[in-house]
Amino acid sequence: MQPFLNVVNPATNDIIGTIENSTAEDVQNAVNAANLILPKWERTQASKRAVMLVNAASLIRTRAADLAALLTTEQGKPLTEARDEVLGAAHVFEYYASVCGSIPGDARMLPGYGYLNVIRKPLGICAAIIPWNMPVLIFAWKAGAALSCGNAVIAKPSKTASLTIQKIADLMHVAGIPNEALQIVTGTGDEAGSALIEHPEIRHISFTGSITTGKSVSMRAAPYLKKLTLELGGNDSFIVTKSADLDAAVKGAVKHRFYNCGQVCTSAKRILVEDSVAEAFTHKAQVLLDKYVVGNGLEKVNMGPLNNPEQLTLVESTVAAILEHGDAELVSGGKRILGPGNFYAPTLLKNVSPFAVSEEIFGPVMSVIPFNTADEALDIANSTPYGLGSSIWTSEIEMARKFAEGLECGVVWVNKHLILPPEMPFGGVRSSGFGRENGMDFVYEYTEPKSILFG
Ligand code: NAD
Repeated sequence: MQPFLNVVNPATNDIIGTIENSTAEDVQNAVNAANLILPKWERTQASKRAVMLVNAASLIRTRAADLAALLTTEQGKPLTEARDEVLGAAHVFEYYASVCGSIPGDARMLPGYGYLNVIRKPLGICAAIIPWNMPVLIFAWKAGAALSCGNAVIAKPSKTASLTIQKIADLMHVAGIPNEALQIVTGTGDEAGSALIEHPEIRHISFTGSITTGKSVSMRAAPYLKKLTLELGGNDSFIVTKSADLDAAVKGAVKHRFYNCGQVCTSAKRILVEDSVAEAFTHKAQVLLDKYVVGNGLEKVNMGPLNNPEQLTLVESTVAAILEHGDAELVSGGKRILGPGNFYAPTLLKNVSPFAVSEEIFGPVMSVIPFNTADEALDIANSTPYGLGSSIWTSEIEMARKFAEGLECGVVWVNKHLILPPEMPFGGVRSSGFGRENGMDFVYEYTEPKSILFG
């Protein structure tokens, strides 16, 4: 096995760094170190943990420009998006600082039994397995929640997006979080990832990634009876009725479909538009996309490259197959952009057959699907195995309520999409996974109740 792996800039194909290709032995060393700190870390006053998280956020904010540039260079997203993500991570740590001292419990008299105390205990060592698309934010969600409750965290980033997370972890250590309470193990999913999943002393796995890997994680963690949070793929519908503010809906759809080159679990992947306004919607989207500048994220661009060559090939072959089968009409894009880097043109498809896009397309492809009635739109929206997020764009309150109730997913936005405040529980149903990140729900994931009954 190679001891190091190269990290490649997806815009230029240049090697920009290396990461350790960690082994099961490295994971064992991390577990040993975490075990040493746990008794002390668990008993650290909540206010002290909160100060460490706030200090970490402040250091991240101070170095946001450098961190964002590094994130762009390894992940590909435009600098403005990278900066948003880095500052978003700081915001998440500030939120979890506010949670440290408010972990709920219960204390009351149970007549006939005695006096009941319920305290919530941290789980111990928790693993955070992170994908390459929003690495810094997803790291912050998992590490912030687990640390705020007094757990030790071993995080494994994706091999194509580890460098910025490593730098942020260094800052968190400078902020006072003990090295052993937060450790980063880099490397491949097969080696380092598997070692985390199959380590008997790791009590919780928070995994974000594909459905295929998520199922495998679930099966391999089962013999150890580990707690799991699985945040898997999404195939979000973005539903526009004829009463919607069309300009706002088009702007929202373009923004939330092409953000991060379409590589977001809750991207607006299937755009369902009421038939009478579908042509106008598509035209307006095309006008916006015609002005889209694609290029190296370090320059002034709207969209960068896909993160890795495999993803580029997958997007390219998926679109080619849809068009070959006559399941959509190509309005613009539909091809890779030649030259170095994993660039694919922002692509607009109209009159898309819903069945052609029942699998998520993790790339810059907007699929406009016309519908005639609200019931038909709900059927299409709920027709995939996914259930992460969806949005409804309308000016009718009854319509908003009908969709909010009928959409089978973990998050419904009304006249918004892809807004993820740290206070809001986030996660999916069905094949999009289970468990919730963010909000107090994540605190419940990372703690377990202990009931103490006094006689
Ligand atoms: P992936 O499943 O290939 O990898 C995710 C992480 O799992 C990486 O760190 C990887 O190294 C690790 N991994 C891979 N194989 C493993 C194994 N056998 N054992 C243990 N760990 C293993 O996913 P990806 O390609 O990095 O990310 C893209 C996918 O993630 C998309 O499907 C996307 O929708 C999904 N995603 C979901 C959410 C969400 O919150 N629901 C968020 C972001 C991305």
